[in-house]
Amino acid sequence: MSFAQTIVENVLRLAEEKKAKKVRGVVIELGELLLINPEQLEFCFQVASHGTIAEGAELELKFTKPVIECLMCGKKYSEPIAICECGGIIKVEGGKDMLIRRVEMEV
Ligand SMILES: [Zn+2]
Repeated sequence: MSFAQTIVENVLRLAEEKKAKKVRGVVIELGELLLINPEQLEFCFQVASHGTIAEGAELELKFTKPVIECLMCGKKYSEPIAICECGGIIKVEGGKDMLIRRVEMEV
């Protein structure tokens, strides 16, 4: 719920800055490692935006992959792992961010 709430708050602030009358759609980038359930987020967004100008806005979610790389040999992985096959320590970058990419609104 808190994620949806944060999104709605930010969207409404943006809409207010632009003096928008209605928010039509929101494009959000989400890190895969946040393990967010899209249907749940969409539902929570509808609940959190109820009664605001963002009510009924279409939510578009884009999931971003983390960059997982071995600090020893530089091998890249697409899934989080504990340790590289060379025994090296793994560095994980990204995949945990939430970003509002675009807000479509009626001014
Ligand atoms: Zn390695």
